[in-house]
Amino acid sequence: MDYYSIVSNVLDENEIIEFLKSLINTRSDYPPGDTRKIAELCANKLSDNDISCSIRVPDSSVRNPKDNNPSFMYPSVIAELGNGNGPTLLFNAHIDTVSSGDHSMWATDPFLAFQAYGNIYGRGAGDDKGSVCAQIMAAILLRRAGVPINGKLIINPVSDEEANSCRGAKWLIESNQLLPDMVIVGEQTNNRIAVAERAVVFVRITITGKACHGAMPWVGSNATVHMSDFIQAIKKEVIPQMESVKHPYLPLTTISPTHIDGGIQVNIIPEKCALELDCRLTPGVSEVELLDSFDRILRRLSHNKEQYQYEIEVTNSEKGVVTDTKIDSELVVSISEAYEKVMGKWPEYTGYMQASDGRVFARRQIPIVIFGPGDPKLGHSPNEFVPVSQVIEATKILAFTAIKLLAK
Ligand SMILES: [Zn+2]
Repeated sequence: MDYYSIVSNVLDENEIIEFLKSLINTRSDYPPGDTRKIAELCANKLSDNDISCSIRVPDSSVRNPKDNNPSFMYPSVIAELGNGNGPTLLFNAHIDTVSSGDHSMWATDPFLAFQAYGNIYGRGAGDDKGSVCAQIMAAILLRRAGVPINGKLIINPVSDEEANSCRGAKWLIESNQLLPDMVIVGEQTNNRIAVAERAVVFVRITITGKACHGAMPWVGSNATVHMSDFIQAIKKEVIPQMESVKHPYLPLTTISPTHIDGGIQVNIIPEKCALELDCRLTPGVSEVELLDSFDRILRRLSHNKEQYQYEIEVTNSEKGVVTDTKIDSELVVSISEAYEKVMGKWPEYTGYMQASDGRVFARRQIPIVIFGPGDPKLGHSPNEFVPVSQVIEATKILAFTAIKLLAK
């Protein structure tokens, strides 16, 4: 019998379902995103199945200034299989979730897993506990089946993804606690294979004009009007140029003004106006190019009749890193072959629309795939669910991928 058949034989669907339910029943919603209990649940499941693992806790120097919660609330798990004589494949999935939101919008208790219609409902069912479950169970099946791992498989349930990863994947990577050669990021793709992700760049523009009495606007320099001219110029000059860069699996570049704050009172011409932009860059469009185009427009407009000062800042931490893995890379080919074995057909490739922890690995320029059960449209919404069949299929596909890559 080959290892694929042995893994299939040792798979117990009920065990997978019960483990997913226990993950959902262990609250880890942000804020505050306290993952101590769920990290322990994952670590116990792995070590009970004879997989060595450790819990890593960031020290107090690793902080997220946005919430300032104590860093010990954000442990991550690192479990390992294999002899190390070969490549390292890493499974990443996040154990924190977003908040449940308005409970009256839920048909059931968001923190108590509920199984019906072939689905499991609850906060985090898809985002991201379905993937956490599939990745851990895949490793357990490999262990039980006695699959030899020539290299290393790291199972890495991480904290803090919903805050900004600085106490989770980003901390683990930057402190060199993880050195993978390839990564599978578990996020909801309906088990499609996502090979690309746009870069996320959050930009804040501040314009400083001159305040004066609202009755004599010609004496001042109205920062809000200047910002409006800037937004119009982006629409006319920047977006068409950036939309000319296309990618087979991703949407076009988007530049969205999302938050604007100008002026203090109705009868004062505003001195300051600040604008925040959510920019998602398709591979081929760089952050430098984006910021240069903003600077060019502002330099020109600020030297018109009413002069003003401006400032451009990037406000997110993982600036401008795209994921763009080649479909003929060994990782993509292996997961595709594993998919075909389980699903009976070759997969369709896709891009991942949101931002995943893939971006913190992308800086290392290693192959990254984003793959997991659940519909990405259901993440962060009430009555979130994951189809049981997809969790079982994902578990097998992940185990088979590890066999393809490491059991040589
Ligand atoms: Zn997620």
